[in-house]
Amino acid sequence: MKLFQLRRVPRTLGAIALALLTCLVLLWSKPIIGQTPARSAPPPQIVKWAYPTNYGFRLNQDIYGQPLRNPLMVVIHETVGSADSAVGLFQNPNYSSEGSQASYHALIALDGTIIYTVPFEYRAYGAGNSVFMGANGPEAAQTSPRVPASVNNFAYHFSLETPVDGRNNADRHSGYTVQQYRSLAWLVRYTKVPESRVTYHKTIDRSGTRKDPRSFDENLFLKMLSQAR
Ligand SMILES: [Zn+2]
Repeated sequence: MKLFQLRRVPRTLGAIALALLTCLVLLWSKPIIGQTPARSAPPPQIVKWAYPTNYGFRLNQDIYGQPLRNPLMVVIHETVGSADSAVGLFQNPNYSSEGSQASYHALIALDGTIIYTVPFEYRAYGAGNSVFMGANGPEAAQTSPRVPASVNNFAYHFSLETPVDGRNNADRHSGYTVQQYRSLAWLVRYTKVPESRVTYHKTIDRSGTRKDPRSFDENLFLKMLSQAR
């Protein structure tokens, strides 16, 4: 009888300890109401750097010697072709002038994967001949006598991979995936650029030839942006 009681005490204590431990684990893992929601997981990200002829330095003065102090901004594009073909173009050495080169800082594939192609501290050649209408007036910088003024010196260029039915010159297509909007919102938040300095290539273009990003759902993007942390 004594032996039986001795055995029961540790078992009861063990059960109580296990219950307490379970409660602690549940409390620790479950968000408490009113607490800040957990940070959403970052999207998948890979690196496929462009060849260095396809991007340049961010300069601190223009060709006239005027200081360049524009705050950074974001320009949203679409690839029109596949993301792979854009990466192939950027990785191909191009020794011609900046006006005929092209690059973005990052591509966002249809599955939401972010593909980094130009380091953020460098100037990507994403929008030649462009002007951003900022809160204090038009903004552009001419950094080469052979190339028109543009926003490239102070821009991050992010490009959405175009869906298969949009790989043409039509005015619209079926649009981008939810994963692409989520990744784009995450990326814009990462740059800390305010919403007022996020724009589209077609908005800043002065060449009259750009209409990207076509079929962009601004409401969905702004919703994702407000949720991104
Ligand atoms: Zn563009």
